[in-house]
Amino acid sequence: MSVLTENKLSPQEEISILKNTKNAVILAHYYQEPEIQEIADFVGDSLELAKKAATTNADIIVFAGVHFMAETAKILNPSKKVLLPDLNAGCSLAESCPPEAFQQLKDKYPDHVVVTYINCSAEIKAMSDVVCTSSNAERVINSIPLDKPIIFAPDKNLGRYLIEKTGRKMLLWDGACIVHEAFSIDKLLELYAKYPSAKIIAHPESEEHILKIANYIGSTSGMLNFVKSSDQDTFIVATEAGILHQMQMDVPDKTLIPAPAKEDNSCACSECAFMKMNTLQKLYNCLKDESPEIVLAESLMKAAHRPIKRMMEL
Ligand code: SF4
Repeated sequence: MSVLTENKLSPQEEISILKNTKNAVILAHYYQEPEIQEIADFVGDSLELAKKAATTNADIIVFAGVHFMAETAKILNPSKKVLLPDLNAGCSLAESCPPEAFQQLKDKYPDHVVVTYINCSAEIKAMSDVVCTSSNAERVINSIPLDKPIIFAPDKNLGRYLIEKTGRKMLLWDGACIVHEAFSIDKLLELYAKYPSAKIIAHPESEEHILKIANYIGSTSGMLNFVKSSDQDTFIVATEAGILHQMQMDVPDKTLIPAPAKEDNSCACSECAFMKMNTLQKLYNCLKDESPEIVLAESLMKAAHRPIKRMMEL
């Protein structure tokens, strides 16, 4: 950000000026880099960010997250300009469910109620009866009449967990998140042996063997609340490592250890490469240029809004 250096303003100050001049709001997911979380007006999980996007009075929403989240913001508040710092910030889970293949499944089971996890494209949302997040998935499934069969997509791990929790039979789409499937059970058990008093907390997108040994399973915000309210002081955290920033601010005196990944990487933990595509520089550029912008067809937005609205009503 050379302009910033010349003006002797910090990147944060420059972004703040642009934000105020343009009446923009910055919404950031917990998986963003700490420097982005720190400059955001609001940091949250998918459900919290969707709610903020739906009710903001700002003219511009800068969505520091991934593509499907920015799409959801646009669908919920179509009159706003929604910007995504890097248009390539996708999601392995959303990409695992292409619309044509999903339509074929729907055609095969026309009597099924289609429930989709919010981590999917606008096209898949438009083909759904109701959307859910990991915070409200159980409630959404329980709202469906018992005599109605269910298709759940795209996350098979969350789907399997929901079958166990609700006792409902569901046809699961075979999709997964690369980050939550990257945890190594062997390394996790080794780590646990070193910290036997630690509580293992996991996101339900994690694989079954990880969930089986977890002391607590919940959404990103659920995990934050658990750590805050627990008497324990050490936690092994099985979700994207970006959450540790907010968590450590919430519980500065507690020890938080990221669950180890199968492959060795620089931080020995799991990070979402898509989420990390957004940088402070890209955030500044997109606010300055008002691009890249999320643009969706009117008809698609209308069709995708219906199942999201149904979730919000629940
Ligand atoms: S953590 Fe997984 S589900 Fe979330 S954006 Fe990254 S790839 Fe998608």
